[in-house]
Amino acid sequence: MEQNAQAYLVGAGPGDPGLMTVRALELVQRADVLVYDRLVSPDVVAQAPATCELVYVGKSPDRHTLAQHEINALLVEKAAPGRTLVRLKGGDPFVFGRGGEEAEELRSHGIPFAVVPGVTSCIAAPAYAGIPVTHRGMASSFTVITGHEDPSKLASSVDWEQVAHLRGTLVFLMGMKNLPVIAESLMAYGMPGETPAAVVERGTWPAQRVAVGCLDTIAADAAERGLANPAVIVVGQVAALHDELAWFDPRPLAGKTVGITRARHQASELRTELEALGAAVAEFPVSRLAPPTDPAPLAAAAASRETYDFAVFTSANGVKTFFRACEAACPAPADAAPSASSAAAVLAGAAVIAVGPATAKALATRGVRSAITPDSFCAEGVADLLSGRLGPSERVLLVRAEDARTVVADAVRAAGAELVDVPAYRTVLREDGKDDLLAALRAGSLDALTFASSSAARNTVALLDGDASLLAGVSLFSIGPLTTATMEGLGLAVRAEAGSSTVGGLVGAVLGSLGEPS
Ligand code: SAH
Repeated sequence: MEQNAQAYLVGAGPGDPGLMTVRALELVQRADVLVYDRLVSPDVVAQAPATCELVYVGKSPDRHTLAQHEINALLVEKAAPGRTLVRLKGGDPFVFGRGGEEAEELRSHGIPFAVVPGVTSCIAAPAYAGIPVTHRGMASSFTVITGHEDPSKLASSVDWEQVAHLRGTLVFLMGMKNLPVIAESLMAYGMPGETPAAVVERGTWPAQRVAVGCLDTIAADAAERGLANPAVIVVGQVAALHDELAWFDPRPLAGKTVGITRARHQASELRTELEALGAAVAEFPVSRLAPPTDPAPLAAAAASRETYDFAVFTSANGVKTFFRACEAACPAPADAAPSASSAAAVLAGAAVIAVGPATAKALATRGVRSAITPDSFCAEGVADLLSGRLGPSERVLLVRAEDARTVVADAVRAAGAELVDVPAYRTVLREDGKDDLLAALRAGSLDALTFASSSAARNTVALLDGDASLLAGVSLFSIGPLTTATMEGLGLAVRAEAGSSTVGGLVGAVLGSLGEPS
């Protein structure tokens, strides 16, 4: 069967990408189509090849969710001989994952499939909280139960009386909404209120949080801490072992949700750094890149073979668009090294200045490693750096955003140098994230929102139809003085500003304000 499988029902593990099986990783890395759920870590999805078709079928608040029969139909539609279809599910595909139904559907259509079991959250989340589900002398069995059903309903498919009399550990999945009534029902059927109980939220993720108490108090404890799904509920003596065996350190931003307003292609570094600190990250890409209104200066600079004494890049976006334009004007051979690209040739004789480390990095990955950066990572810093070095008849290439301020251009002109001014791109408002942003703000689910540029702040407020008061309950963070000034001008209260105008600085500001000492 496995030899000619077209579809794979694969468990991605509970969250920590290290808990994916070797087999699962192999399959994701060669998937042609990847159909995945909400509980699958973005780091796991990122393993798919660039050519892989990604289909997200998970639930998200306020968005149409594919019904199970639609997912089944999708799998049948996407499966084809010679193609690897990977259906990736959180935990194990056959533990409350509806994997069995998908397998039935594939079988009924004669589509050969294989199953790759995964590390299931019902064991792994307790384990990461220092809770063994069985323990000598304490629990010689464990039972995994859906918490999705309201125990007070008459026609429950779970026999609550029987469950309350089981002697081993009880693990409830999907139970946070019903936690109070689950606890009450167990006590009503005779389970002592002092039975140890725990809730493990986002087990194995950097944002893992744990509440431990007893059956009597656990619902209140969890509510007070705001614990919600995905979480497992553990009831039984073993829950008390957490105090002794906890080993997985909670991170300082665990339990915090931080929004990112950067354009999607620029968000990943910020996302990774925040997640490493335990934050849950929500992306609201309020901007996207667009070609400059007048494309002529960029095209001319890209095609020209003239040389410059200085070349100034004021953003990583500028680097990207300039190199792309040069490539379009004069393609390098496919096997050429980055340092032999046509853009690198244009820059060959010039002293290259990058506004900050991210811009310098964008240049370095394209073969230009000699860029220098100013002391302060902003236009004023670049102007200072230039004015100390620039001679009257020298030529300066300035690659910038169309709506950039004129600080650098003014400095070049003031020195009597020749300016080749290239507006290389515009950032324009991206409207498709509006509903997500509004929903998150209305639900109060964001603790923080980060702004890495003035345009991100302007576009965010534009998306909210100018109503900055919607952001009143959220801590707002700015990457630097200019963005802060723009935000304040828009009526936004800045909670903290980055110490240095870099992604690391921005993360540091969030951490300094919202982080809990561990
Ligand atoms: N197939 C999955 C379970 C899917 S049902 C598995 O084997 O783990 C979804 C429920 O799983 C969630 O409501 C939550 O109860 C639980 N869950 C999944 N991932 C979790 C995690 N990282 N931490 C805690 N609970 C998790």
